[in-house]
Amino acid sequence: MGRKIKEECGVFGILEQAGTDIAPDIFLGLTALQHRGQEACGIAVSETEGTVGNCSFRKDLGLVSEVFHDPEFLGKLKGNLGIGHVRYSTTGASVAENAQPLVLSYIKGTLGLAHNGNLINTETLKRELVRTGAIFHTTTDSEVIAFHIARERVRTATVEEAVLAAARKLAGAYSLVIMSPRKLIGMRDPWGLRPLCLGKRGPAWILASESCALSAVGAEYVRDIEPGELISISAGGIHSDRSLQISRPAHCIFEYIYFARLDSRIDGISVYDARICAGKALAEAHPVEADMVSGVPESGLTAAMGYAEHSGIPFGYAFYKNSYVGRTFIRPTREARSSGVRMKLGVLDSAVKGKRIVLVDDSIVRGTTMANLIRMLKDAGAKEVHIRISSPPFRHPCYFGTDVPSGEELIANQYSETDLCEKLRQKLDADSLGYLPLSALPEMVKGLPICTGCFDAGYPFPVPESRH
Ligand code: AMP
Repeated sequence: MGRKIKEECGVFGILEQAGTDIAPDIFLGLTALQHRGQEACGIAVSETEGTVGNCSFRKDLGLVSEVFHDPEFLGKLKGNLGIGHVRYSTTGASVAENAQPLVLSYIKGTLGLAHNGNLINTETLKRELVRTGAIFHTTTDSEVIAFHIARERVRTATVEEAVLAAARKLAGAYSLVIMSPRKLIGMRDPWGLRPLCLGKRGPAWILASESCALSAVGAEYVRDIEPGELISISAGGIHSDRSLQISRPAHCIFEYIYFARLDSRIDGISVYDARICAGKALAEAHPVEADMVSGVPESGLTAAMGYAEHSGIPFGYAFYKNSYVGRTFIRPTREARSSGVRMKLGVLDSAVKGKRIVLVDDSIVRGTTMANLIRMLKDAGAKEVHIRISSPPFRHPCYFGTDVPSGEELIANQYSETDLCEKLRQKLDADSLGYLPLSALPEMVKGLPICTGCFDAGYPFPVPESRH
């Protein structure tokens, strides 16, 4: 407890020029983004014609299908402009007040905001506001951003200028969707740390964290919002401002490794292709003689297919995943996480008995998942278990929105670079263990500039010492 809530979320926004109610589309879009956050969600909508700015919203703790289980809830959300949010937070303050979108009354009417990412200068920004009398209802970074936009709007000619002025003060990761009375605005931080893309369906423009949400509403992918770009959509058309762009962005590599959905394309790179490529590179770096290559469902399966293709060892399933069990990763204790792994995954005895198995997963964080799975495979009669990880060792915290425990909890940190594979192999009782080399990452994303801070502390900008 007491840990800061991290924003590892999904955002969605839509402006339907024909005036149709769009809450059902936001529902679909958020459902497609559910993997980005299962803690809370919300939808806010308003009309851009008639009673402009009359905003209605619903947000609460729970999955999209739970919070909007009654079709009447969506029916009551009337409007052709709207935004939505799915939220993930770690243990602790999981309270409805922190659900998004945030809806505020400000000088120009209503302002709605949904945020994915994590800022590193929230405390400073908040202090500045509190000193001038501001009161906060939530403990999220997002409220600080919204408040700064509202304050800037007092002296700027347009809402876009206010968003840009606020953005100039932010350090960290933010993909924002914002609704003002007549506009839908999207903004991505200058490093492009978190994703945001643009789609079109007839007279509707759509912004979404991932392209899979565009497909879910029958929209066509147009392009990704560029790092540092602000995009503004209104009846007057679509406008872009790139004044915050920098020369070298740093896209989050973990979106490709684990976080994004397999059928999404982010910044021109297919998540599926990236994972296949990682699996092939892993096979190249750490070959082994075995009878079967398998992956930890879901996120390890694609890299396992890449490993199988490159090595010529057949791919097969070693585990069945119970899709009705939520995330085990965020459970507060080690025991709860372990039983969660066993509740989520069941071993396929007949498929693994007597075999030498290569088991691929996308990452080892605390080591709970792997320790349990190796034991399950061996209890089921597997002859050998060779662990292959389709990312480099996880040694450093992420400050930009991917939930990673503190440095001490990361199992890779318990060993030196030279000892890591052998010592961890022994601890996990595996027959061999190999990680994806850091040098394989650029090829995985076809040379896209990336942030590799969680692997090598090479953060794209200085992180305050106290946070290391
Ligand atoms: P652990 O059991 O602590 O070693 O965590 C590793 C497992 O958690 C892997 O199977 C990953 O797919 C998954 N994982 C890695 N990073 C995250 C994250 N930030 N949030 C949720 N799950 C994660």
